[in-house]
Amino acid sequence: MSGFDGRVAIVTGGTRGIGRAIASDLLDAGFRVVVTARTSADVDRVAKELGSGAPDRVLGIRCDVRDPESCGALVGRTVEHFGRLDLLVNNAGIGKFASIQEMSLEDWGLQIDTNLSGVFYLSRAAIPHLKESDDAWIINIGSLAGRNTFAGGTAYNASKFGLLGMSEAMMLDLRYEGIRVSLVMPGSVDTSFGERPAGSKAGWALTSEDVSRAVLDLLRYPGNALASRIELRPTQPPRKG
Ligand code: NDP
Repeated sequence: MSGFDGRVAIVTGGTRGIGRAIASDLLDAGFRVVVTARTSADVDRVAKELGSGAPDRVLGIRCDVRDPESCGALVGRTVEHFGRLDLLVNNAGIGKFASIQEMSLEDWGLQIDTNLSGVFYLSRAAIPHLKESDDAWIINIGSLAGRNTFAGGTAYNASKFGLLGMSEAMMLDLRYEGIRVSLVMPGSVDTSFGERPAGSKAGWALTSEDVSRAVLDLLRYPGNALASRIELRPTQPPRKG
């Protein structure tokens, strides 16, 4: 038996990359998991794949985190189906890299709405239910790009720096409501994120499982301890210059 048996988690962006690894590891640890993303076919397929051993512990629900109504419906359906909510993992994110002159209004909006506003919308919808849990968490997947700028990062840096500030302010508010809030800030992870295909950073970058492990480690801290920020970087990235 695991200490997490019966607990319920939502993982946004759970259909591939880091989110899928987190969903899979939460299931292995005993959680019941709602997997969500924008693409219905992927949501259905991944929920089926992850739930192959235990279909009653996985639910796929389409949600676009940029839409507050979609976020409210996701939380409502989760609680209706599983009866509770203990953990929200705000992982969904988009990266489009271009100089400020070349960044379209559409790509600016896409990143701010997904990486920053989406966390706000979904957290607000989830908090009333998380307050009912005796061990509630919101874990936000930020980035080292929330602390280190780079050329072409106008929108991505802005969204992840904003998420760092929002996550820490949320932590200060919600600790007294019995909800622990943490931010995991990975460096390069070998996924299909951004413009580079999965596999192109293999050998030196973090894996999705490395990030997932940080999430599971956080959940294992006793109730009196709150690791509010984790910076996780590849040990030996290619040297610059
Ligand atoms: P992927 O591109 O592999 O996966 C992104 C996931 O988010 C997909 O499931 C995607 O599904 C979903 N998604 C995108 N937009 C939305 C939306 N509006 N609403 C709901 N779901 C959405 O990315 P990674 O796994 O690499 O990244 C996950 C998180 O980790 C992101 O927040 C990213 O910023 C962060 N990160 C990634 C790093 C990396 O090097 N890969 C480094 C540091 C941080 P769909 O398109 O169907 O919606």
